[in-house]
Amino acid sequence: MADNVVYGTVEWYDKYQDAELEKVRYEQIKCSLDPRHDRRRRIGNLRLILPTSHIGDFIWTIYSECIVSDRVLNLFKDSGFSGFEARTSEIVRVRRLPKNERDTIPRIWELVTTGTAGDASPESGIRLLYRCPVCDYTRYSSFQEGIIVDAQQWDGTDFFTVKGYPSFTLIAERVKDLIVDHRLTNCAIIKATDLRWGKLPRPEEHPENFIPAEEGRPKTTCQLRTST
Ligand SMILES: [Zn+2]
Repeated sequence: MADNVVYGTVEWYDKYQDAELEKVRYEQIKCSLDPRHDRRRRIGNLRLILPTSHIGDFIWTIYSECIVSDRVLNLFKDSGFSGFEARTSEIVRVRRLPKNERDTIPRIWELVTTGTAGDASPESGIRLLYRCPVCDYTRYSSFQEGIIVDAQQWDGTDFFTVKGYPSFTLIAERVKDLIVDHRLTNCAIIKATDLRWGKLPRPEEHPENFIPAEEGRPKTTCQLRTST
């Protein structure tokens, strides 16, 4: 186990693996200014295909959606946790599951984080780099020393995110304690300030990758003068 991991083990990754999705429907978002802003938003519920016969308390999809079993959802609800919505989901297939174990497939829920801590603290290095005036596509800079939450902007929820990093689910200390106390599986926990960017390119060093070339530079350069 790496030093900075609060809870969890790398073996889980091989044991459980990421779930695939069946028949997902998306809504397309097109940008007339820059096709690189085109993106899609999922509509409808998740239908999962599990690649192994091991079913953890948590399940992650190939797109990093977070799924929990009925038991885990009830633990969260009974603890009075806030900042999430449970959406109906279902496991439609489990590869390599013996036929006589099919009735062990649990009821599951997609855990959608709704809590917010607004903008991350400037100390984290996270800031808005660009917002498209046409399609509202946004790009934020990388974090330098992990994600540092600005307590003034945190809404006090137990599950929350900061702007720019919607797939980084942040949890309050008491959620961590519950997960550790119940030894819930397939859910690694790391201190938000220990997150490291790694070798990925940093968006602030490559603004040309998402800011349309025309912007910030007049299409034709003219000189104003009193006479010709
Ligand atoms: Zn755009």
